[in-house]
Amino acid sequence: MSRREKTPDAAAAWSGIRGIGPRLAERLAKLGIDRPAALLTHLPLRYEDQTHVTPMGALHPGTEALVAGEVLVAERVRTRRRMLVVRLGDGTGYLTLRFFHFHDRLQKSLARGARFACFGEVRPGPTGLEMVHPTLRRLGADDDTPHKETLTPVYPTVSGLGQATLRRAVEQALSALREGRLDAYRLPPALADWPGLMPALEAVHHPRPEQGPPEVMAPVLQRLAADELLAHYLVLRQLRSQSRAGHAPSLAEGAALAARLRGVLPFKLTAGQVRVADEIGADLDSVRPMRRLLQGDVGSGKTVLAGLALARAVGAGRQAAIMAPTALLAEQHMRTLSAWFDGIGVPVGLYTANVPAAERRRWRERAAAGEPLVLVGTHALVAGEEAPLPGLALAVVDEQHRFGVGQRLALAGGEQGAVHQLVMSATPIPRTLAMTLYADLDVSILDERPPGRVPVVTAVMSEARRDEIIERIVEVIGTGRQVYWVCPLIEESEVLEAQAAEKTAEALAAALPSVKVALVHGRLRAVEKDAIMRRFVEGRIDLLVATTVIEVGVDVPNATLMVIENAERLGLAQLHQLRGRVGRGGTQSHCVLLYKPPLGERARERLTAVRESDDGFVIAEADLRLRGPGELLGTHQAGFTRMRVADLARDRGLVARLPQRAEQVMANAPSAEVAHLIEFWLGEDLRYADA
Ligand code: ADP
Ligand code: MG
Repeated sequence: MSRREKTPDAAAAWSGIRGIGPRLAERLAKLGIDRPAALLTHLPLRYEDQTHVTPMGALHPGTEALVAGEVLVAERVRTRRRMLVVRLGDGTGYLTLRFFHFHDRLQKSLARGARFACFGEVRPGPTGLEMVHPTLRRLGADDDTPHKETLTPVYPTVSGLGQATLRRAVEQALSALREGRLDAYRLPPALADWPGLMPALEAVHHPRPEQGPPEVMAPVLQRLAADELLAHYLVLRQLRSQSRAGHAPSLAEGAALAARLRGVLPFKLTAGQVRVADEIGADLDSVRPMRRLLQGDVGSGKTVLAGLALARAVGAGRQAAIMAPTALLAEQHMRTLSAWFDGIGVPVGLYTANVPAAERRRWRERAAAGEPLVLVGTHALVAGEEAPLPGLALAVVDEQHRFGVGQRLALAGGEQGAVHQLVMSATPIPRTLAMTLYADLDVSILDERPPGRVPVVTAVMSEARRDEIIERIVEVIGTGRQVYWVCPLIEESEVLEAQAAEKTAEALAAALPSVKVALVHGRLRAVEKDAIMRRFVEGRIDLLVATTVIEVGVDVPNATLMVIENAERLGLAQLHQLRGRVGRGGTQSHCVLLYKPPLGERARERLTAVRESDDGFVIAEADLRLRGPGELLGTHQAGFTRMRVADLARDRGLVARLPQRAEQVMANAPSAEVAHLIEFWLGEDLRYADA
């Protein structure tokens, strides 16, 4: 069993695919695309229709259109902004093009008389209809067709990676698959009740116009989603049987120390916590490695259950670790745990990149000497080169919903195979789905809150009432409290999202001159994000404007108001998660869900579900029930499992049939094809399972 060898050259995975060099490979990696199959399963967010030319005389403002025409005039204009203005004509009418960013080269190519195909959104302008920054293609000879045969995909991307480059890369991967230079898989015909893999991939990346509508695309997505779910499920089953066969130390001797911890806690455990503590305790007493998922809504009191398990390990003379997704969250756990552990003599140390090297070395030395202790850190704690805990008996992973099968495999692989694992997540997944999606784990659910919590009052408001909300913010901050303002813009790129957040932060800072406003978004470096979050925790920022990156699990009891913009565009589970950042102290907290009118029927129902319920499981159910078929492509998932194609809401039926489908595949498909299926969908991650 060995840890994964990281290929130093990301491009190696791409040999055999033309045109993907190290630089492009690096950019693709930022999108989570590390190999050709991952590129093929990177689905478009939407399509542009460039399959027919619209005569300029028939253009309608507010629509996207492809036109073809001749340049009549192109000139630089300098009003408030420098721009290039081009007038095109096609005999039926005229169209103005505007460019605010342009090279001399562009201006040169737009010579009078040159013919261009031009795609973009048609808008009204001062001298008739226009397009701003359209996509341009020079047309050569008269018979050069301006239109395309198939719809043009628009992919989710990152800065520095343009749509044209991505499209070319996808086409290269498709040809490699078509020509057999890339491994695919073949399922028995009895199971192929959907389009084949190749036709499905062709259809999703460049559908013919009649294949584009969501209801026509649905079976294609079903096929891909079914295979992806199957691949995950098969790996999880494999993992489960492997871990059952493993052997971990029994921590039964630590029961007494865990009982002492219960005695020194500042509160009494709820009945639900007692039940889960018993389930975990029984797992830890056994020599079969624990693989348990603890699901509990935000604020349901999961940390103390981790604490009891960690104490049990130390009481049994062993070492244990708890890992959070960020250094900041690790520090928070450190504070909580040391307050409990100091009373019962359990040594506990913080072990993150922020801790001085000398101090980390001291902890490594103590661990190497075999001292029973607990370390609190991030994933580096078990995955890093200098993993400090050679005698690790228990690993607790908090806020695991950010980690997919890959990370679970990582934790299960290598020497960690003989370690008890407790995974904690605040993302509620209905029990029926959980059984299948976490086929490798036993599941415990904490479904009640500790007493004395004041529920957050939620309001749904049109963004037209922004002024009222700003007054409200002034009041709240006036009483010494803090406020979150979340602006999630579900866009094709993080850049646009960050820009929107910047604008909001500027506007709020201008409207609230006496308030300390700060901004945090996904484009900041981790250290910058950390620094801002820390200042908010310390109360040195009054109003924190954030994209949805705001750290899950950050505990700022003094923050009592959260405003969420564009709430109608977020998943309900995500809204509930975000709202969980307030209402953490004893004071009444408020959450305002702002929407852009008009609000459709379904959207209203969705927001009402969040307003009326405080229960993550109820909200998760509503989310599944109320998600529309219009949200087929590219939906962002806030779920525990990150799938490329499958979507828990849309594919609920597929999930239910998974166990049966898996049986059929195992009984009928050659094992080599099953291996190919898994490799196609899970790629390198699979190597852990084999190790
Ligand atoms: P989460 O499940 O979101 O990680 P935490 O473990 O952070 O929740 O618990 C939330 C808050 O509830 C903490 O302040 C914790 O001390 C408190 N708490 C946990 N269990 C109880 C209990 N049984 N009675 C009272 N307060 C509790
Ligand atoms: Mg927590």
